[in-house]
Amino acid sequence: MPELIVDLEGAKKFLREKQAKTAIVQIPEGLKTKTTQIIDQLKGTCENVFVKMDPCFGACDLPLNDMKALNADAVIHIGHGVIHSHKNIIYIPCHYDLGEKEIEKNVSGLLKELEKRKINSVALVSNVQYSNALPGIKEKLFRHGIKSFIGKGTSRIATQGQVLGCNYSVVEEVQPAVQASVYFGDGYFHPMGLVFSTKKPVIVVNPLHGTVEEISEKNRDRFMRKRFAAIAKASQAKKFGIIVTVKSGQRQKEKALKLKEAIERHGKQAYLLEMDLVVESYMTGIGVDCLVNTACNRIVLDDSDNWKTLIINPTECLIAIGEKTWEEWVPDEFPH
Ligand code: SF4
Repeated sequence: MPELIVDLEGAKKFLREKQAKTAIVQIPEGLKTKTTQIIDQLKGTCENVFVKMDPCFGACDLPLNDMKALNADAVIHIGHGVIHSHKNIIYIPCHYDLGEKEIEKNVSGLLKELEKRKINSVALVSNVQYSNALPGIKEKLFRHGIKSFIGKGTSRIATQGQVLGCNYSVVEEVQPAVQASVYFGDGYFHPMGLVFSTKKPVIVVNPLHGTVEEISEKNRDRFMRKRFAAIAKASQAKKFGIIVTVKSGQRQKEKALKLKEAIERHGKQAYLLEMDLVVESYMTGIGVDCLVNTACNRIVLDDSDNWKTLIINPTECLIAIGEKTWEEWVPDEFPH
């Protein structure tokens, strides 16, 4: 199985150049088992290296407050591409180094699936860990008569063809030219976002398992039914709690204030709730009928079944109070 490569040379150079005395290293959940190895590799480059142990799911969550609290000179953010540049933060996105043979094998599985579905044009996407493989896949598909498009995306996107769980702009920009989206990578988190964000088939090529599968047919209708049921329920709510996170790339104070105004215009009550990590257990006994989440949209789209209080996204709230129509449903994105 291919190994995930964490190249820390850039981080070492960055710490030396900055003459950093105190640094914070942010490691994504999937890589925490490598924590001590990572810190050992940074030895000699900075006097005090702290590992941030709070969960980190994206580059939308930079430890800016921790920097101030610990008087840190630098942050090494591992595992994600840049969302916001910051002079004291270096991003070390990891990637899988897939061999030519592995890519060839995956492309041949993909070609069979495309042939079966009579698809000859696709949007080619991945998360940042696999995006270096996309140009090679594009070339191979082209040799077999398949047109593939690798979008550039908005300013929150670090590499071509990259998707975030909350940003599918690389697919949106090529939608008119394609019949389907092909996600190259492991896991379902990112491809499920494609299912919510597009109306065309979503094919997942998993190079770690060697599998190819279409996932939108069985998931899209069921997902939309759930969202519409939640909106219908929210339309009966009288008291709303609007959640604003303080996380660096998820903070949406202005959006929350506008939502509050809109809710109150309709004779309902709205309360502003501020927090860092948005978790269900912190909401016990809050006494509202419905929560509106302005932080990561996936908290609602993937996890609302596990919340005791009804929780919806901002666009869904506007539909529920009658300021938008059902046809206007979208998975809320952050401003670009
Ligand atoms: S907001 Fe959510 S989906 Fe978007 S990058 Fe952050 S963790 Fe991922």
